[in-house]
Amino acid sequence: MKIQVGGLSEGIHRFHFDVPASDVGLGEEFSDVHTDVELDKTPHQIVLHADIHTAADFSCDRCTAPLSSRLDSSYRMHYIWDEEGASVYDVAEVQVIPQGSAVIDITEDVRQTVLIAVPLKLLCREDCLGLCPHCGKDLNEGPCGCTTEEVDSRWDKLRALQDRKSQDPR
Ligand SMILES: [Zn+2]
Ligand SMILES: [Zn+2]
Repeated sequence: MKIQVGGLSEGIHRFHFDVPASDVGLGEEFSDVHTDVELDKTPHQIVLHADIHTAADFSCDRCTAPLSSRLDSSYRMHYIWDEEGASVYDVAEVQVIPQGSAVIDITEDVRQTVLIAVPLKLLCREDCLGLCPHCGKDLNEGPCGCTTEEVDSRWDKLRALQDRKSQDPR
């Protein structure tokens, strides 16, 4: 995803890219990536704003049900030629390019922006009950036959202690 900026006149320019996720270095769970770019060229910088739309097929972290997410994100980048001017920008929003650069490549910025848009927790719904750790049944479909007594073995000792206490004759 490269933009020819060499011969570009000053002012606003718009570009649109539709590319397969693999072209951006994203995994096959992602759909095609649509990117709208607005670029403002001035004598001292190029300000780029990108709106990115894609989707991905994940699975729920708790119950593993397939889950399709729309991923809409955007970012802004300032391209400048003079390194000394960089300090006035947010470090994540500025790149110094050689004077007279003919092309800027936005592929890596788009890839990172999409990845940041992926939710940390992927849940089919907020209150997903997940799978029973013992029998693997999807608890969203109803309770399984496993008793709730079956707790982690780490608690066995504690439980034995409590049982003994409760049986203590007073
Ligand atoms: Zn789920
Ligand atoms: Zn179960």
